[in-house]
Amino acid sequence: MEMESERKTERARKRKRDDVTGSFNQWLHQGNVIIAHVVLALARLDQVKFNLPYPMFCGVLIYHNRDYWQEKKELDEDRHRSGPILRSSASSDGQKIKNKNMVDIAEAEQLLRQGLGRRGMRRPDTSPGRVAKNGSTHDISTGAGDVLSEGIQGYERLTQSPGLQRLKLFLNMTLSPILLIAFVPNLVIFIWFTAIHCNGSYLTMVSKLFSQRSILTGLADMWRVVNTPSAPIIYILTGYGLYALVMMRLLPGKMVKGPVTPKGNIPVYKDNGFVYYLLTLALFWGLTYALRPYGYTPSIIYDRFDEVLFALNAFSLVFCLFLYLKGLFAPSSTDSGSSGNMIFDYYWGTELYPRILGFDVKLFTNCRFGMMGWALLVCVHAVKSYEMHGFVDSMFVSVALQLIYITKFFWWEAGYMSTIDIMVDRAGFYICWGCLVYIPGLYTSPSFYLVSQPVLLGLPVASMLLVTGILAIWINYEADMQKQMVRGSNGACQVWGRKPELIRARYTLENGQEKESLLLASGWWGMARHFHYVPEITLALCWSLPALFHNILPYSYVIFLVILLVHRTFRDDEKCARKYGTYWDQYCQKVPHKMVPYLF
Ligand code: NDP
Repeated sequence: MEMESERKTERARKRKRDDVTGSFNQWLHQGNVIIAHVVLALARLDQVKFNLPYPMFCGVLIYHNRDYWQEKKELDEDRHRSGPILRSSASSDGQKIKNKNMVDIAEAEQLLRQGLGRRGMRRPDTSPGRVAKNGSTHDISTGAGDVLSEGIQGYERLTQSPGLQRLKLFLNMTLSPILLIAFVPNLVIFIWFTAIHCNGSYLTMVSKLFSQRSILTGLADMWRVVNTPSAPIIYILTGYGLYALVMMRLLPGKMVKGPVTPKGNIPVYKDNGFVYYLLTLALFWGLTYALRPYGYTPSIIYDRFDEVLFALNAFSLVFCLFLYLKGLFAPSSTDSGSSGNMIFDYYWGTELYPRILGFDVKLFTNCRFGMMGWALLVCVHAVKSYEMHGFVDSMFVSVALQLIYITKFFWWEAGYMSTIDIMVDRAGFYICWGCLVYIPGLYTSPSFYLVSQPVLLGLPVASMLLVTGILAIWINYEADMQKQMVRGSNGACQVWGRKPELIRARYTLENGQEKESLLLASGWWGMARHFHYVPEITLALCWSLPALFHNILPYSYVIFLVILLVHRTFRDDEKCARKYGTYWDQYCQKVPHKMVPYLF
């Protein structure tokens, strides 16, 4: 009997030991496999012709991994010395340690972003015998032979090792930004090149550009086909930009307050986006109609879209440099500062709410130029398609849904000022380049594709897509409005005909001031913590599906959106957990799923 119970204990011990070492090995293995796959894929694309960048890339990774391998070696030695490692009843502690480590890294990144630099970072306490528990450090050593504490210490030292943290910071703050800044300007050109020169097929594009030659040669060949901006394109883009600025100032609108910033500032905006949107669309269609007899057509923008993308790319890259320097030397508010890492500062921005001559930069780049540009471009696609093929129902569905979505956006523009793009993301390459180039280049890709690859859907399919898309737009809008309404009325409103379920969450600003926010835990916000992303993805699918399934290109935007929004659910949860602490935990307990009820 006794022997049986001993055997059981031994088996349980072994299972737990395997759990710790297994999950570590798995993590390690996955990391290496991903790196190996990236390198192999690049090498294959390159037909192994390449010489310098990949060994350099691998060298950099190995160099930054060096502390990590040293830590692992020490841990292995510890393991041999101390025997089996148990997580035992403290498995939840192990989880907490891991979570705390995640928060520490996030905190470190946050501090860097807030301009405290590396010196301002709090290093986790990794001194022997101390582990994190319930968010604090306390001694858990219970004397010699306590394999549990040794195991936890080893695990903690591994996950919190300075080497691993440095590696994470290097990946997040230097390598990823460099790769993104170098790669994404090419991405919009890939889309244009594929649609115009490869019948919308990415496979044809890859074989045309990269088969039997190096990546760099392929890229150079692609850029050779791109024309530099001609005078008409420069005039049109400059005129459009100036028009947007003038209208920001001149059009009537009441002044609205944005959310309070981490430094305690409250930015104020002129809420005239919807009037601007209606006026601009009216001008577009009016001029299109009036100038047609004289041979002028807006489809020049479609015909010379390579020039447009070239000009936008060049302008945005320089503009982001200007914003970077402005944030360092002439910031508009105290919500600014450097992380100490030039590359990250350029990528992420140095100011939250930069203003130039009283013009709010993000309001201009995100809304008045980017989102309005999206609406104008899909109208251009509709005109071009009509000129080439007459009425095509797939183009109609795609353009109609995009326009309804953008109309909703401008109707709710004041609410947009309380979203992550504005509250969290600084004005740098990430958001400003994204809105100035990515929106025109990627977001419009479904209707851009349909110009050269028209599809006839028939009434039933067209109506089904239209109705589903409109429903998704409505749900997305209602979810955004529920949050805005609850906060605007301090909870004195109804959500789905009932009193809203609320969590009154307290938090502290950087200047020590205490504040309170409402977290809505019913309505769409009671289904999942970011349920509104589901209709956002659905509606994007509805305006891509009219292209049917011949090519992947019209789904580029949806694929990008899924990645962006899933990543955002993690980013926002992390931000809110840091801001609201236990109040956020309460919300997570009440609404356990991130995005899709019962699934994710
Ligand atoms: P949210 O609108 O979800 O804003 C997130 C913020 O809302 C949180 O940081 C928090 O801010 C607050 N919040 C979180 N949970 C609650 C709650 N339960 N009750 C009240 N407030 C809460 O995120 P996004 O900015 O990502 O999205 C805004 C809109 O833009 C959505 O419609 C989205 O679909 C759309 N979108 C579109 C994209 C595109 O490319 N097409 C990309 C991203 C978004 P606080 O600090 O104030 O508490």
